[in-house]
Amino acid sequence: MNKGLKIFLIVLLILLIIATIAVTTLKLLQNHTEEIIEPSPYSEASLTVMRNLNLYDEINSKEYSKTVEALLEDNELKKEYLEDYYEINYKNINNFSTIINELLAKDYNSEEINYITANMKDNIDILLNMDYIDILAFKDITNFEINNVERYLAYQEENEDYDLATVVTYVNIGLDKEGYSEYTEYTEEEAQNDLTILVNKYHKLPDDYVPNDLVSLSYSSNYYLRSEAAEAFERLTNAGMLDGVVFYPFSPYRSYELQERLYNGYVARDGVAAADTYSARPGFSEHQLGLAVDVRSNTLNDNLTSEDYEWMLNNSYKYGFIVRYPKGKQHITQFMEEPWHLRYLGVELATKVHDSGLTYDEYYDLYMK
Ligand SMILES: [Zn+2]
Repeated sequence: MNKGLKIFLIVLLILLIIATIAVTTLKLLQNHTEEIIEPSPYSEASLTVMRNLNLYDEINSKEYSKTVEALLEDNELKKEYLEDYYEINYKNINNFSTIINELLAKDYNSEEINYITANMKDNIDILLNMDYIDILAFKDITNFEINNVERYLAYQEENEDYDLATVVTYVNIGLDKEGYSEYTEYTEEEAQNDLTILVNKYHKLPDDYVPNDLVSLSYSSNYYLRSEAAEAFERLTNAGMLDGVVFYPFSPYRSYELQERLYNGYVARDGVAAADTYSARPGFSEHQLGLAVDVRSNTLNDNLTSEDYEWMLNNSYKYGFIVRYPKGKQHITQFMEEPWHLRYLGVELATKVHDSGLTYDEYYDLYMK
């Protein structure tokens, strides 16, 4: 190889190396430039706010968050909550940014806030108007009503033995308030068309409500129930007889006026407080529904014997009746134990209530609303 060719090859090699280095450097430079000019997913307005807050690099180095963007656009982003914002799901609700900040200020964490905005969006004001509560404690309580939340807390304080689910049900029934102090009144249509309505010290019937399908019972032409309940009662009576349990209807349908006379008589005899434990005030009696009947057994002077009562508890639901005021439930039903008082609900519902072991007041709140 002559000297000239050698030099030529060396020069060529050097040129090649220089070219390679140049191309690589250019490529790297290009990549870097692209990274910098890659458009931010945030809007111009958001970027401006970021710059003003000195958060441009920090926010752009993280994954895009629609929640963060919403707060930026509303100019409500607070530096101290930045980490929390990234954990909070964006929701398209009015005043989202304000709500998030107010909940964070009340010490709700991101998990709680996600639950609140997903499940309670129409009622967040209620939470914003009160101190922090452990909202997730109510998460699995199906009959939880946000409007009652302050009553739950107050009732639980007074009744520390009750678990939260019991507190919710009892407050929903109304038990944190004196019976008759606050009640809802049904319309005549509701009373007439719904055989399952709950009547108690918190649910009233219209004074002049009279069921339009009362029929007399075979036992006496002066005793009435609504036709469906009357037929079911005949079946119940026959079934009892087959099992050797004999009972009679003693007081079925009662008009508002009759209930008024009875109640006033009890008050005159025993006083209001005592009367209220065993007699409903007029308008608040299931007897006015034409779907309740008091029964007696053996002789007309005896209430149900305990054997008859056992039979009734275990069998009446098969014919559509429940024992409405059972033993040990006075704190819920607000009436003393009345083994003789039966309420017609139809076989299907009476069976469910029987199987649940709940009073109808509880069952209604949990499953009928
Ligand atoms: Zn009764």
